[in-house]
Amino acid sequence: MPRIPLVVGNWKMYKRISETEEFCAQLRAQLADFSGVQVAVAPPFTSLAAAARVLKESPILVSAQNSFWAEWGAYTGEVSPLMLLDAGCHFSIIGHSERRQFFGETDESINKKILALFKTGLTPIFCVGETLPEREAGKAFSIVEKQIKAGLAGVKINNPQELVIAYEPVWAIGTGKTATPQQAQEMQNFIRQMIRELFSPQLAEEISILYGGSVKPDNISEIIAQEDVDGALVGGASLEINSFIQIIKACAGKGKK
Ligand code: PEP
Repeated sequence: MPRIPLVVGNWKMYKRISETEEFCAQLRAQLADFSGVQVAVAPPFTSLAAAARVLKESPILVSAQNSFWAEWGAYTGEVSPLMLLDAGCHFSIIGHSERRQFFGETDESINKKILALFKTGLTPIFCVGETLPEREAGKAFSIVEKQIKAGLAGVKINNPQELVIAYEPVWAIGTGKTATPQQAQEMQNFIRQMIRELFSPQLAEEISILYGGSVKPDNISEIIAQEDVDGALVGGASLEINSFIQIIKACAGKGKK
């Protein structure tokens, strides 16, 4: 089965409800006759239901940026996968480096969140990636290996649509420094080999592995051309409609076996 490219806009802590509605309406209109790429937007929690409403019955999907591991309970400030489903989400980003860095996310908490999303039928967009000191110390591959093994412990995958992996080198997020296409390809091929060993050759062939880290209209073509890059997780450049559309169009129709 071919891997359809996926482009996800991570809006981080930007866009109020009215801005979300306006952006989603424009996105929907501009992609009305467009195919060959799957698109999703990840607004803040407060704008999820508004995005889902505007994008209803369109092929554009909605993602949360985080979710908790319990369904209900006394967890002040948290939002559960059930609530995200209710708001109209299809995906949730999990383990973004900003959450690891600023909110104490660990491989263990990420694993609990991934298991909870599976239970609810939401698709995790599971982020992994090394910091600059880790890369410079020659530890990039062992760090990503540890993140993947711990994050996916106990996870059973029946079909390739149930999980998306995003390789996001921490040193490339929001810095304007992109990994070279070769660095992205090398790591994403390594991740695919891990999926082959941990799960199955078929899943490894079919699962989507995105690249994220300062993706822009002027660098996406080289990145998406890499064999093991199946799309992009886009931060800053997804906040502006024209740059997001350019990135989406550059990824469309990437011919995969
Ligand atoms: C991200 O937030 O996942 C990201 C990759 O951000 P940026 O594109 O701004 O580097």
